[in-house]
Amino acid sequence: MSAAKKHLAIPPTVFYTRTMSILKQFYPDNYIDSTYQIDFEQLKRQGIRGVIFDIDNTLVPHGAPADERSRALFLRLHKLGIQTMLLSNNKEPRVKSFAKQVHTSYIYKAGKPAVKNYRKAMELMGTDKKTTLFVGDQLFTDVWGAQRAGITTYLVKPIHPKEEIQIVLKRRLEWIVLYFYKKDLNKKKKRKGGLK
Ligand SMILES: [Mg+2]
Repeated sequence: MSAAKKHLAIPPTVFYTRTMSILKQFYPDNYIDSTYQIDFEQLKRQGIRGVIFDIDNTLVPHGAPADERSRALFLRLHKLGIQTMLLSNNKEPRVKSFAKQVHTSYIYKAGKPAVKNYRKAMELMGTDKKTTLFVGDQLFTDVWGAQRAGITTYLVKPIHPKEEIQIVLKRRLEWIVLYFYKKDLNKKKKRKGGLK
């Protein structure tokens, strides 16, 4: 049998189920428009003690310094008694200067989606996977690593849409996963009896 025929030998329903289970691994726990709409006060009441943030396109546009609202966010979190940590794949000068502006700790060249530095971030904050959140704008880098570290994830829409070519290509793949994610979410909402 040729390779093409072998492929066709898988019944379509099985092929669909397998594909969906692969896609589902990448689903974020939450998908929202912006980091700045997260209700951290509520999350604190639910037991959250630490938040790990990506920087570029999650808190500010790529390469931009901390602005008024990002500084205000970190101040608000610290007043709430929530620990913060920046986890970025960017180089030290970028990450260090941003961290200084928002008065937080950081890990640079984090190697996301590798799980190692998500764990290190929790260790440094003295939190665990049940009391920590992750917020980032990239599905296959930020969110995938956090999911495998067992941390609740918030995927946010990128602040600035103009991105480097390798990120643009990843976005195309993200689009496929998010298409099914949103479809599944709508199905669940309908089952629950309408939109909230
Ligand atoms: Mg980013």
